[in-house]
Amino acid sequence: MMGISCDILVVGGGMAGISAAIKAAREGACTLLVEKNGFPGGIPVSGMHRYICGLFPTGDQVPFKTLNGGIAEEICSGLKGLSSDTGIIQMGKVYLLSFRTKDLVTILKSLSEKQIGLGILYEKKVVSVKTKNSFIKSVTAEGQTGKIRIIPRKVIDCSGDGTLIRLSRAAHQLSTARERQLAGFCFKIKGINDPGEMAPISVPYCISGAVRRKKLPPYLKYTKFTPGDVSGEGYCLISIPAGGGREKISKAINYAVKVHAVLSESLSTFHDSYIYELSSVIVEREGLRMTGEYTLTKEDVLSASKFNDGVVKNAWPIEIWDRKKGPSFQYLAPGTYYEIPLRCLKSRDIKNLYCAGRCISASPEALGSTRVMGTCISLGEQAGLAAAKELIVS
Ligand SMILES: Cc1cc2nc3c(=O)[nH]c(=O)nc-3n(C[C@H](O)[C@H](O)[C@H](O)COP(=O)(O)OP(=O)(O)OC[C@H]3O[C@@H](n4cnc5c(N)ncnc54)[C@H](O)[C@@H]3O)c2cc1C
Repeated sequence: MMGISCDILVVGGGMAGISAAIKAAREGACTLLVEKNGFPGGIPVSGMHRYICGLFPTGDQVPFKTLNGGIAEEICSGLKGLSSDTGIIQMGKVYLLSFRTKDLVTILKSLSEKQIGLGILYEKKVVSVKTKNSFIKSVTAEGQTGKIRIIPRKVIDCSGDGTLIRLSRAAHQLSTARERQLAGFCFKIKGINDPGEMAPISVPYCISGAVRRKKLPPYLKYTKFTPGDVSGEGYCLISIPAGGGREKISKAINYAVKVHAVLSESLSTFHDSYIYELSSVIVEREGLRMTGEYTLTKEDVLSASKFNDGVVKNAWPIEIWDRKKGPSFQYLAPGTYYEIPLRCLKSRDIKNLYCAGRCISASPEALGSTRVMGTCISLGEQAGLAAAKELIVS
């Protein structure tokens, strides 16, 4: 088996992982990023997201800069530079950045590939970990070209679902599948004839009616529609219960086909439409979370708590997609934000393990606010910075 040593190993090249790896390398650490897909971006790319949430403060004025600066600001201005459609939009009480998937991949690739001191292995999946005396000693990743054994000094788990946390048996929390928030599945539709662009309203209304008539399962009533980049296309996001095995993806595809059939039957604007693309994965809102030196709570979020070791600011509401009640939002007071302490990114028991993104130490409610893309970018950046600084001390 091939072997390689590095200062910092980052597992997962989603928003958190790319930022963690870039920052660690910028701080002078010899850094390796391992990603099982052949592209960066994680859930937002596979799940066909359209808006970056969690980048901006709230308030009456349209914000002119991001809440956290740093890599979030670089990604934001890079996206704006690539497409004139990209911009800040207001949705209710919050501000978001619209983006095109291909632009996001371009920016993440260009920032990471030009970074000196950063090596990237795509299409390699971390499969096992060796620990000794509460330290991760080695990590094995495998892909089509074989296995590789990595000996890192520090590890940052940015896998979204907490792969490293689970494999190293670090303390963690995981709600049961029944308690977990609804997962999502996205598909792209073309051939819509909707000059009035009423689809974001008419689609959920039409699908709710079909659910009431028992033509579709109950959680499909939370279906959302977002217009695409050009007229005649759009994205449908359907909700699926969390958990389940491989057969779940075929179930999700089946639901997507049924949802589309109802739309083309009931809405004249969808008569000639067709499913152009289906997401390759079901994307989970909630998964395994590390138990860190501190666990962020719902009260911390809603009372805009600040901490001595606060490293990331966030103003995004607590967004819960409950299996029975559907989506709900709890907002912070306008113009305020809370901080996420560095202790939420440090394992309580595995001494050289950090995490960032979706698997940080937070209660399920607090995670409903911290997991959005903009916040994940800054969490990754701070984990990369902290891990690199610790190298100098140790
Ligand atoms: C249905 C749904 C809709 C959402 N909508 C929005 C939205 O509109 N706007 C927004 O801002 N946020 C949205 N979010 C939240 C957001 O997309 C994610 O929470 C966030 O992108 C998570 O980033 P991450 O880097 O922590 O994890 P991920 O995006 O999950 O990235 C993890 C990466 O790790 C890789 N990986 C996993 N295991 C391994 C392994 N063993 N070895 C190597 N690599 C591995 C994966 O391939 C992936 O690339 C949504 C989430 C869901 C579920």
